[in-house]
Formats: sequence, C-alpha cells, structure tokens
Amino acid sequence: MRVQSFPMLEVVPLGGLGEFGMNMLAMSWADTTIVVDAGVMFPDPELLGVDRIIPDLTYLQQKRAAALVLTHGHEDHIGGVPHVLPYVDGPVYGTPLTLALVEPKLEEHGIAGGHDLKSVRPRDRVRVGPFEIEFIRVTHSMPDCVALAIHTPAGVIVHTGDFKIDQTPIDDEHFDFHRFAKLGSEGVLALFADSTNIDRRGFTGSELEVTEAFEEIFTSATGRIVVGAFASSIYRMQILVDLAAQFDRKVAFVGRGMMENSKIAQRLGYLKIPAGVQIADSEVGTYPAQDVLVLATGSQGEPMAALSRIAIDDHRYVKLQEDDTVVISARAIPGNEKAIGRVINHLSRRGADVIHEGIKHVHVSGHGSEEELKLMLSLVQPRYFVPIHGEYRQLAQHARVARRVFSGRDPHPETLLVENGDILHIDAGSARVVGKAPVGRILIDGTRTGEVGDEVLRDRRHLAEDGLVVPVVAINKQTGLLEGVPDIITRGFVMENSQELLADGARVLSDVVEASSVEERTDQGLIKEKLRTELRRFFKKRSGRRPFVLPVIMEI
Ligand SMILES: [Zn+2]
Ligand SMILES: [Zn+2]
Repeated sequence: MRVQSFPMLEVVPLGGLGEFGMNMLAMSWADTTIVVDAGVMFPDPELLGVDRIIPDLTYLQQKRAAALVLTHGHEDHIGGVPHVLPYVDGPVYGTPLTLALVEPKLEEHGIAGGHDLKSVRPRDRVRVGPFEIEFIRVTHSMPDCVALAIHTPAGVIVHTGDFKIDQTPIDDEHFDFHRFAKLGSEGVLALFADSTNIDRRGFTGSELEVTEAFEEIFTSATGRIVVGAFASSIYRMQILVDLAAQFDRKVAFVGRGMMENSKIAQRLGYLKIPAGVQIADSEVGTYPAQDVLVLATGSQGEPMAALSRIAIDDHRYVKLQEDDTVVISARAIPGNEKAIGRVINHLSRRGADVIHEGIKHVHVSGHGSEEELKLMLSLVQPRYFVPIHGEYRQLAQHARVARRVFSGRDPHPETLLVENGDILHIDAGSARVVGKAPVGRILIDGTRTGEVGDEVLRDRRHLAEDGLVVPVVAINKQTGLLEGVPDIITRGFVMENSQELLADGARVLSDVVEASSVEERTDQGLIKEKLRTELRRFFKKRSGRRPFVLPVIMEI
C-alpha cells in the first residue's frame, strides 16, 4: 500500500553555510519554490583564473522558482542574481536600494527589462503561492536592509538576512524590535540567523562610531585624504561626505563601483551631498591636496581596483604625494589579508600615512556580535533554530550560544546544524535532514565589461572544452627584469599552428612585463593579473577560445 505523501516544508541552503559569501536558500511547499538571496563569493585575489563564484544551481534547475526574494544589496546576497534569474519564473522582490543595485547587473548581462522587479517596503507582505512573505526592517552597514518572516502552511519562518542592532542609525530607520517580538510571542516555527560575528563578544556598535576617528583624521591631515571602502558602504560615504563639507574638502568618487553606487544612492535619496562638494575623478589633480577627499574602491587589495592603482602610481587622476593620508575603512575579508598588506606596503613607500582598523577605529562591522545574536534568539524564540551565514566553526558556535540562551525554556527550542545542500524538512513535530541536493561552486570567468554571459562554466567543463594554459615567467627579484624567454605550457589546448601561436603568446608576455613599472613587475598579484588578462585576450582573438589561464611567476 502506498502512503499518501503530504506536502512538507522543505528548506535547502544552497550557499553561505560553511563558507563566507554566496548566500542563497531555497524554500518549497508542494510545487512552489522561492529563493532567498542569490550571492557571489569573490575568489582570493592571489588565486587568479576566476572572477567570481556562485553556488551550484542544479537544485533550482530541477525545481524552478516562483520568486526571488532579496534581503539587501551586498554582493554576497545579490551578486549572483543574473545567473539565478534563468531559473526564476516570477518576480524579484527587494527594497528600492536593493533593486537599484541589481539593475546595473542585469544590464551588464543584457537581461534588463525581461524581469519583474517588485519594490517592497518594510512591513509589506506579498503572496507567492502558499507563502506570504513579510519584510521587516533591520540595521546593517548599508541602508534598506530587511529580514523576512515567511508565513508558510507549516508555520512562520524568520530569516534574518544580515543584521546588527544599530540604535542610532544614520538614516533614522530603526531596527524593528516590535515586529520580531510580536512574531516571537505568536510563535515562530524556525529561525535562520546570521552567524558572521558570533565569535565577537558584546555588541558590534553603531555605524556612527567611526565619526570620531575620522574627525581626528580630518583635523590633522595636511594633504589629501584617500579612503578605501566597499562601494556598498553608503553610510560610510555619508559620514565622509558630511565631514568633507564641514572641513571644506571636495569629494571625488574613484573607481567604477564607487561612482556607480554613489550615483544610485544619490538618485534614490540615500546619500545626500551638499551642492558644490562633489567633483569628478578627473578634477582631483586640479585642487590643492588639502582640499580633497577621495573615496576609492579597492579596500580588499584587488589588483585592478582604484586603490591598488593609486598605490603603484598607476592611476590616471589620483597621484599620491608625501603627507597624503590613506585610510582603509573596511575589514579584510578572510583570505585577502596578504593582498591588502601588499597595497599598504606600496602606499607607505609613496610616503603616505596609512591608517587602518588596527590603528584607529575607522571601521565598524555590519554584523551583530554575540549579544545581538542572543537578543534575536530571545525575541524570536523559535521552535527550531538554524544558524546560517558563516564558516562551520561560526555556525557551531552560534548553535552553542543558542543552547545557552534557550536552556530552561519550555518547550525547549531545538538547534540544527546544517550545511549547504542539506534538504531540511520541517513541521511542528520534527525537523530533520532527509537528503542532499547537489552542491558545489560555479566559477565565473570573465571581465567586468560584459562578456560574462557565455562564460558561466563549471571549471571542469571549462578545462575540458578550452584547456589550460600556464604561462611561466621568470623575473629578477632585484631588477624586475625578465630572465630568459617566457614559456607557455598547455594542457588540453590543441591548435593548428600551435607552435607559432605559443611563440607569439610568449612575446605578448614579454611585452606585458616590459611595459610594466618595476614596482608592478615585482608585485606577484598585479603582474599575474596583467599577464592573465592580456594572454586571455590574445588567445580569444587568435583562436576564438578561452582557455583557463593560470600564470606562474618565478622570482629569481
Ligand atoms: Zn550584508
Ligand atoms: Zn552578507
């Protein structure tokens, strides 16, 4: 006799559990699936060959989604939207700023206009099949962030998105304690909560906290002030713009992300710049150094970003002088420490005074620390708790903290440690992992100029189809000069006239090295990125193929 199968609430985290970034979670009831967030992860800048990484999408391919719901506009939540949309048959819901940050991505991929972007406000509710999705205001390091309460036939699921508890938000949009408390008192089936900062004690602190350190910097700086920050740090931009106005400095946004996002934030009213304060990047050199504030991309040491270019004196408009002050107003994403250290070395060599988080309080995290996360657990008091957003150790620590918070409560909330791909079935009586969806990473290889669309490939497939090219370049550590003729090793990359092709490729490598400054040549990260970009362009042009290019630099 066959047992009639009743619909079950199925939740599958597809990314962001056991790793930092690419947050994505699917939720299904019968044949309706919704997806919460579609993030990317950036590869370590030293590990070249890939531009960005998104989760395996096989599960979504099989299920298809009726809606994509976005919590906020950080790349680790929206960077993968263009790649996920082909599997979404319905609207994309997000707050105005989140959707405004998604739009340029769709344009870049040539899919703007083809999708229904639905703007929502906190406390709005939308219906998608059996789900009713409610948006709840949270505070974080950028404006317009929401958590979700998803009302399902099995009960209410709360998904916090990213949050901290900032009780003095720059835009006066407060964390909605009341709503979380109300949901908690009415009964929440499961809570999925951010674990990023569980291993920090106490409270994280308000965005406002950095103001004091920057006031000191503005008071004492005699030259230009250059601040490297995330292009999404719109609160940070506002604080700096206000200080610049107060201290009679002009503000220039430098680097594509900074320019784009500051424009979007201004258009939507999230960033207010007094008249006459903003100047173009090309005007930076025309003002006395002490009258200028530059906001630049590249706080993670990305080799091609503005701050890295400035650091090696290779930026078109921003030339550092002695007495200039450079502030790195961001934390190092794990894995980027070395690249950031390299940029700081270059900046110091130019004579700049470099200030970072370790020296002054110029950065405050956007993620709640232990006490804020405990507060969320207490407010929501779910039947089941599932830590998300974090490496495994953070998820495990969040689970430990939750057990302490819940001890003595009756009924006793249950904590579940799950990983990417775990298929979780939840109802009032039980919550358990019943299977595993395909998990993994899709490496996205392409420049930012729009050739990405065709290049979404699993690395294996990429290697199988287009092969691997390893340029080997020997550079003298002292002089920065080439040692001998560069060599190109290939695997699975067979071409007619390949001897000639490889000889020409080797010449491209020599040209790249010779056209670079000594500082660039002796900087592994930078020179590798240049060699990779140029060689890829060369093979694309000459062979129409896009092999995986992994430069090897031998320092002699
Ligand atoms: Zn975030
Ligand atoms: Zn995040």
